[in-house]
Amino acid sequence: VLYCSDGCRDSAWNLYHRVLCQGASVADPNHPTEKLKDAWRNMHYPPETSSIMLIARMIALVKQSDKKDQILSKFAEFCKSTVNEEEHIAHKLLGKEFQEQLEILRSLVCEAFYDEHVQQWFTPEGFRSLFALIGTNGQGVGTSSLSVWVHNCDALELSDEERQTLDAFIDQLYVDIEKESGTFLNCEGSGLYTFQSACNHSCQPNAEVTFPHNNFTLQMVAVQDIKAGEEICISYLDECDRERSRYSRQKALRENYLFNCNCSLCQSQIDDPDVTSEEEEEEEEEDEEQMQEDS
Ligand SMILES: [Zn+2]
Ligand SMILES: [Zn+2]
Repeated sequence: VLYCSDGCRDSAWNLYHRVLCQGASVADPNHPTEKLKDAWRNMHYPPETSSIMLIARMIALVKQSDKKDQILSKFAEFCKSTVNEEEHIAHKLLGKEFQEQLEILRSLVCEAFYDEHVQQWFTPEGFRSLFALIGTNGQGVGTSSLSVWVHNCDALELSDEERQTLDAFIDQLYVDIEKESGTFLNCEGSGLYTFQSACNHSCQPNAEVTFPHNNFTLQMVAVQDIKAGEEICISYLDECDRERSRYSRQKALRENYLFNCNCSLCQSQIDDPDVTSEEEEEEEEEDEEQMQEDS
């Protein structure tokens, strides 16, 4: 791990790194932490921004702290349900396809970090809710210089033609990066933020999360005028998913965040057919083909 200053390194050491430090065995495949990281790399766990090391760091924070109750009550502020009883929704990670993975991760996390002060996190039920916690609250920390550059590009005043060329270039860039190094996420890690995680979702949000200082300091910025007393909402869906049909958006929100979205956009689209965006696109293509045949 690289730190920006001695102060940063010392504070990490005093808060959690004493537990997480692998020292000389950092590349030893038999080290319990390496085994855990390796297993994680080979799994595709939803959502992509969550990280097993976030769980490791939570455990380490408790382990190292002499005020364990304070830390635990901080974590208790986050929502960590795996089911929404009222609306009869269960988290995606309770699905069959993830059960086996979750059990493997649980035993590896136990092996690497078991601590009796948080033994409730190591039971199958407790481990699931820990996953639900980082899944529903984990915020990707967007500090990659590429994402800053893309963001700055968006702000440029360009002619339509220049805009199209630039957008096509950026799209291609992401495709090429993905070919080389797998899915590239505009984030260098994930974190938990008590204040931001208390914000509700809207498919037409009036605020967004930014990382203006290229570090983990999170800032919420209004994307439109907000009246006094109006609720501040952010989007839990990334930009791509936000463009999708009402049905697709609601499905993603139900599976990952356990609620039925009733935002103004969803309400205005209430009469839309229940099709996924893919189906919609296919239909559009068929329509186009039909029209070509007709003409
Ligand atoms: Zn270290
Ligand atoms: Zn909505």
